[in-house]
Amino acid sequence: MSANAKKRMEELVKLLKQYDYEYHVLDNPTVSDVEYDRLLRELQDLEAKHPEYVHEDSPSRRIGGEVLDGFEKVEHNLPMLSLANAFDEEELFRFDERLKKTGKSLTYVVEPKIDGLAASLIYENGRLVRAATRGNGTVGEDITHNVRTIKSVPLMLPESVNLEVRGEIYMRKASFLALNEAREKAGEAKFKNPRNAAAGSVRQLNSAIAAQRDLDMFIYSVAERDEDAKTPHHEVLAFLQNLGFKINRDVQHVDTIEEAVRIAQRLEKKRSELPYDIDGVVVKVNERALYRDIGYTAKSPKWAIAYKFEAEEALTQIREIFLQVGRTGQITPVASLEPVDVAGSTVSRATLHNEDYIRGKDIRKGDHVSIKKAGDIIPEVVGVVKERRDGSEESFVMPDKCPKCETALRREENEVDLYCPNPDCPAKNVQGLIHFASREAMNIEGMGIRLCEHFYNEGYLKRIPDIYRLKEHRNALVNRAGFGEKSIDKLLANIEKSKSNSLEHLLFGLGIRYVGKKVSKTLAERFETLDNLMQANKEALLSVDEIGGKIADSVLQFFRQNEHLSMIESLKEQGLNFHYLGEKTTDGHLRGKTFVLTGKLSTMTRDEAKEKIEARGGKITSSVSKKTDYLCAGEDAGSKLEKAKQLGVPILGEDELQDMLNRK
Ligand code: NAD
Repeated sequence: MSANAKKRMEELVKLLKQYDYEYHVLDNPTVSDVEYDRLLRELQDLEAKHPEYVHEDSPSRRIGGEVLDGFEKVEHNLPMLSLANAFDEEELFRFDERLKKTGKSLTYVVEPKIDGLAASLIYENGRLVRAATRGNGTVGEDITHNVRTIKSVPLMLPESVNLEVRGEIYMRKASFLALNEAREKAGEAKFKNPRNAAAGSVRQLNSAIAAQRDLDMFIYSVAERDEDAKTPHHEVLAFLQNLGFKINRDVQHVDTIEEAVRIAQRLEKKRSELPYDIDGVVVKVNERALYRDIGYTAKSPKWAIAYKFEAEEALTQIREIFLQVGRTGQITPVASLEPVDVAGSTVSRATLHNEDYIRGKDIRKGDHVSIKKAGDIIPEVVGVVKERRDGSEESFVMPDKCPKCETALRREENEVDLYCPNPDCPAKNVQGLIHFASREAMNIEGMGIRLCEHFYNEGYLKRIPDIYRLKEHRNALVNRAGFGEKSIDKLLANIEKSKSNSLEHLLFGLGIRYVGKKVSKTLAERFETLDNLMQANKEALLSVDEIGGKIADSVLQFFRQNEHLSMIESLKEQGLNFHYLGEKTTDGHLRGKTFVLTGKLSTMTRDEAKEKIEARGGKITSSVSKKTDYLCAGEDAGSKLEKAKQLGVPILGEDELQDMLNRK
C-alpha cells in the first residue's frame, strides 16, 4: 500500500513540475487549471498521510516560477508567496475556524482573484525604480522597462515615500481577443487565455512589444515586514488608492466568513460580465497586526486563502446561432463557436438555453463570449465581451417554425421553452432513436449519433421499434450501407442483448418528458412492470415519493397517445422485457429522513454513504438546517458539525450510521 503511495507521489511530483514549467516559464499550459489543482490536491493528501516520502522540492512546497535568461534577477526584500486554495465553501469555514482558534477577533477583506501574474513595484522617494515578477518567490525577473508602459501604474507618486506594493498584471478580455486575432492574421501562435497573454507580454525583452499589449495592473497589497504591519489591510488599500494606484472596486471588508462566502457567490455569478478574468476570490484577514502570530507555510500565508471557482471559463467567438430540436421537441438555440479549449477539451458548440436567456444576456451572432462547462459537462455561453463589438453583430430572432419540419412552434403555459408539436418531426425522431440507444438508456453499443442519423436518413430506422427490425435488413446493410459483416453482426447482437434490460432502462429510453434516469428507476421499482405503470392512475403515481403533479401528468399523457401505445405494443411483440429486474433495495426504513454528511468516513466514501441512505429511502442535503434529521460526522468534520450542535440536530458517528443502515 505505502509502496504504491510512494510511487504515485513520485509520479505526481514529476508531472506537476512539468506543468509548473509549462505554465510559469513557457506561459503555455498543456492541462487545465482544474486538472492541475486536482493533481496537486492528490499529492497534498498523500503527503499528509506519508510525511516520510515528501520530496524536498515538492510542488506543494515550492512556488512554481523560474527566472528566464535574459532578464536581470531581482532578489525580493520579502518573499512573494502563493496562496492556499479552498475548493468549496466548507474549506472557507474551516479556514475561519482555524483562525478563530487564535482567540483574536478578526475581520476579512474579500478580493476578486485576478487571473494574471503577480508583480512587485518598488518606489523610492515617490519614484518607481523597480518592477519585478514573482519568479520562484525569492528571486524574480526585472521587468521595470515593461511595467513603465502600463498606463495605470504611477511612475511618480504625489508623496515622496519609500514603499513596495504588490499586485496583479493582467490583460482585459477585449484586449486579449484583439491580440489573438492579430496574431492569427500574422500566422503566430495564439495565447491560450488572458493570463498567459499577460505573462508572455510582461516577459518581453523589448518594451515596445509590451507597450502595444494593453496591459493593466491592480494593486492588492503593500510589502512590509510583519513586525511593522500595523494598519489594517482595507485601510492600506484606501491609502494606496489615494496615492494613485488602481485598486479593484469589488474589494469588500466584511465581519464574518458567512458574508465573505456570500460575496464569493455574488462574484462568481458576476464573473463573466467583468471585463477581466477572475478565477476565484481571495479572502484575507484584515488585521495585519495578527499576521505574524498567524504565520506562514513554506509556500503561502495562513492568513489568506484563495477560493477557486468551480468551472473554468474560456473566451471565443460565436460564428452562428442555430436551433436544435430535442427528442421531446424542445427547441434549444445553440451557438456554433470558434473552437476553444475549456477544462481539458475542445469546445465548438455551446447551449444558449432559450430565447429569454439570449435576450437577458443580449447574445448576438458574431459576439465574443465567455463560455464555461456547466457542471463540467455541457458548455454554455455565460457572458458577452461587449467591448469587442464592432457593429457587425446580429441580434437573434427566434423563428416561429421548426427548423426541420416547419411546423409552427408552441409554448406551453408558464414555460419559456418552445416545442415542435409534430409527432412525425424527423429531428425529434432521430433524437428519440439516439436517446433510446444511448448508454444511460438501452445501452446499445455501437449505435451512436452518427449511425442513428445515417440509418434514419437511409430509411432503415424511423421509429424506436425499427431498431429491433434492423436484422431484417442485414444483407442490405452489409452491401449497400457499406458496413463490414462483422460490425453489423456485432451491432445486431448488441440490439438483441438490449431486449433483456431491466424496465427502468426501457422507461428512460422511451423519452417521457420529465422522466429522467432517476425517476425511471423509482417508477420501475415501484410498479414492477410496464403494464402496471400504464394502468396506474394519478393518485397511484402521486403516492410515490419524489413523483409530483408535473411528472404524473406527463406519464399519464404519454400513455394516452395512440402512437405511443402502438410503439409499446410492437416492442412487446419484438420480445422486449417489460419487468423490473433490479433488487428491491428500498426497504424504506429511512423514508422521509434527511441526512447531511460531513467530514471523512473511513469505511465508505461519501458517495457510497449517499447511495446507501438513498437506497433506504433517506434523503441527502448539503447544508444543515432545522429540517435535518441527522448529521453524520466523519473525521475532521467542520462547520456543519458546529451548526448541527447549535440547532440540536442529532449527530451520528460512522458506526451509528452503519447500524442505522443495517437495521430493518
Ligand atoms: P494562485 O494563482 O493559486 O494564487 C496566488 C496568486 O494569486 C498570487 O501570486 C497573485 O498573483 C494572485 N492574485 C490575484 N489576485 C490576488 C489578490 N487580490 N490578492 C492576492 N493575490 C492575488 O497560485 P500560483 O502559485 O500563482 O499558481 C498556482 C495556480 O496556477 C494553480 O492553482 C493552478 O490553478 C495554476 N497552474 C496551472 C498550471 C497548468 O498547467 N494549468 C500549472 C501551474 C499552475
